Amino acid sequence: MNTNNIMARLEAKYPLEKEYLQAVREVLETIEETYNQHPEFEKAKIVERIVEPDRIFTFRVTWVDDKGEIQTNLGYRIQFNSAIGPYKGGLRFHKAVTPSMLKFLGFEQTFKNALTTLPMGGAKGGSDFDPVGKSDAEIMRFCQAFMLELWNNIGPDTDVPAGDVGVGGREIGYLDGMYKKLAREYNTGVLTGKGMTWGGSILRPEATGYGALYFTQHVLAQAGKEIKGCKIALSGFGNVAWGAAKKAIQLGAKIVAISGPDGVCEIPEGLTPEMNDYMLVMRASNHDKVEDLATRFPGKTVFTPGKKSWSVKCDIALPCAFQNELNGDDAAELIKNGTWCCCEVSNMGCTPEAIHTFQSKGILFAPGKAVNAGGVATSGLEMTQNAAHLAWTADEVDAKLHQIMSSIHEQCLQYGTREDGSIDYVKGANVAGFMKVATAMLEQGII
Ligand code: GLU
Repeated sequence: MNTNNIMARLEAKYPLEKEYLQAVREVLETIEETYNQHPEFEKAKIVERIVEPDRIFTFRVTWVDDKGEIQTNLGYRIQFNSAIGPYKGGLRFHKAVTPSMLKFLGFEQTFKNALTTLPMGGAKGGSDFDPVGKSDAEIMRFCQAFMLELWNNIGPDTDVPAGDVGVGGREIGYLDGMYKKLAREYNTGVLTGKGMTWGGSILRPEATGYGALYFTQHVLAQAGKEIKGCKIALSGFGNVAWGAAKKAIQLGAKIVAISGPDGVCEIPEGLTPEMNDYMLVMRASNHDKVEDLATRFPGKTVFTPGKKSWSVKCDIALPCAFQNELNGDDAAELIKNGTWCCCEVSNMGCTPEAIHTFQSKGILFAPGKAVNAGGVATSGLEMTQNAAHLAWTADEVDAKLHQIMSSIHEQCLQYGTREDGSIDYVKGANVAGFMKVATAMLEQGII
């Protein structure tokens, strides 16, 4: 296979699907060498098949807002690849959602899920519904209308959605309630990220952030460093940023910045556990402004409008918000200010230019597929508990999460160790995920 030829074909076919093309190019460029050592992959046209989703559902979602006005949104579910298990992946509610965004996320999810060591295929879905400024009742009516269309295409053994940007425990509750009413199935396994009293796994809310910090610890240990005492700048204040900050504080690091669409909050003395918990209030308010932290904790934080966390001096940068949130200029600014590690917690949080800048300057860099896989992995653990009709303790789940993140790190080393002994985590994660899915596809024939 030749990456440029395949990309030229995809670019002609999907000229407007920027994010999807970006995600596919990154994977193909890093797997090309390994792929070409396997003529059986080429013969089975694995690469041509793996870049296309198995199927895409698109549907209209109509609901009534608090003023009695009728609103119409688009809903999607992209079932990307089921070679290693039922479709699995989150739902994103955000005004910028397009098929391209969900295709990139579904594609990435396929490899990420393969890395978790659990049997889960890849999927993603969501809507261009904008939760900002919506009341709780509006969120509920939207979720119900969304599920009215989706329910027939998902199930505990076929496709198991979960949260993502704009979809947390509250939304999963409304979606699950409606699913039960429509499907008349009362087993608890159709969605993950559920509440603790109705089938959720303990630690699932924390898992993406906790897993990301466990992975970061491995990256640092591999380079002979430790996290204690490090200054960390992170972006966002949603569920993922919350969990990452919580674990970072527990491990003795200092969170010196968090950010939102409105700007950055610098916290010179470090985020306190109280401020950390306030992130949950900020997320639930649907206000979407990080300035709320500065308003609530005056004197402890400095809010600067229009700036990103990447302008703040730190040792480690953790993008936790959205794709392409850290670009080449941001990477250069971080490096100038002394940053020596960036672990991508958001999906495709760094642009190709940023990754190139980090890697060419010898900065430790690890990609989202590996770093944030603890979230979906714990969803997988939730599915296992649901199927067995039992609930594990926090210690049991945490031990399994540790084990999974450590295995992902091992897989990155296996496939990403360069001749000089340094680690290309992007290549390692992509090749490891690809090999597993490709082998499964090969063994299952031409379907
Ligand atoms: N949305 C998360 C991700 O990007 C979690 C998906 C899940 O738990 O299914 O991996």
